[in-house]
Amino acid sequence: MHTGTLRMTKQRLLILDELMKVRNHPTAYEVYGMVKRTMPQISLGTVYRNLEFLSNCGRIQRLSFGSGKRRYDGNPDNHHHLCCMACGRVDDLPAVMQMEDALNRMLDEIGGYQVKGLSIEAYGICPACREMQDQEGKNKTIRRELWGNSRARRQRRI
Ligand SMILES: [Zn+2]
Ligand SMILES: [Zn+2]
Repeated sequence: MHTGTLRMTKQRLLILDELMKVRNHPTAYEVYGMVKRTMPQISLGTVYRNLEFLSNCGRIQRLSFGSGKRRYDGNPDNHHHLCCMACGRVDDLPAVMQMEDALNRMLDEIGGYQVKGLSIEAYGICPACREMQDQEGKNKTIRRELWGNSRARRQRRI
């Protein structure tokens, strides 16, 4: 990093530092909560402005999935993203050479572009939400069975 071209204030350094510690792509408000532990007097506006500054400089990534809130990513490695449509969590998807090569070839064939960068945002249901949905499905079945049994008992009584 060239500190000469990018002025790093104490606040900016702390924000960058906190952001690079996590992998959950926090919103500005979540970063504010993290930074406040070390710098209690910092304001949300300052955090937001610095996050915008850092993303404009390319030091961090700014993610906005669909109409969702802006999230920030301090992971410097080349990677893509998976977004859960149920809970909104964003996970990293490591870059896979073969996949990128195939996509780049396809984009060249279809669009005639020589691709220099690729960023994938995949949408779906995360493992935790899938498990919850499975569980809900099971509970519904159990409720149906219980209800069925009590009705059977009532009918026997009659
Ligand atoms: Zn989820
Ligand atoms: Zn990421």
